[in-house]
Amino acid sequence: MSTQPKITVATAWLDGCSGCHMSLLDLDARLLELIEQVEIVYSPLVDAKELPARVDIGLLEGAISSEDDLARAQLFRARCQRLVSLGDCAVTGNVPAMRNHFKLADVFDRAYHENVTLKPQIPTREVPALLTPVRPVHSEVRVDVFVPGCPPSADAIWYVLTELIAGRVPDPPAVTRFGA
Ligand code: SF4
Repeated sequence: MSTQPKITVATAWLDGCSGCHMSLLDLDARLLELIEQVEIVYSPLVDAKELPARVDIGLLEGAISSEDDLARAQLFRARCQRLVSLGDCAVTGNVPAMRNHFKLADVFDRAYHENVTLKPQIPTREVPALLTPVRPVHSEVRVDVFVPGCPPSADAIWYVLTELIAGRVPDPPAVTRFGA
């Protein structure tokens, strides 16, 4: 049995639909092979609630749309040796950035007044403050690897992860592209 410490991986979704994480789960049987080599130390997919002080590989799904997203992206950057922008929302803003075409006040009106019949009101507590504009991850923190796709396929994610685990620099555009 190998005594080599496993490579640690953390994932988070910012303003995304979770589809990129679903694509990660689409690795199916390869997940078993993956967990032979890595330990997932923080993720919506596992119970751990604290991001460790040092993580080998961090994957961020989604754009930065709120103060919470920004704080999490900054924390991942500070603690992850390699930071991956996973999916078109993280890489370009994509779907969440569609709200950049509207005034924030109009977005709130649409969400909390026009579409609500019972006591319409804009929440003032428990909801992270939104940022304008919605922005891609690399506009706020340095990103090491960009993986386009909506979502990137399981094959593309497998390629990126196995290259990083092997200590190589992956070339995601060779296997995935915007909107793929
Ligand atoms: S890139 Fe596509 S699948 Fe991934 S979070 Fe954005 S909308 Fe969802």
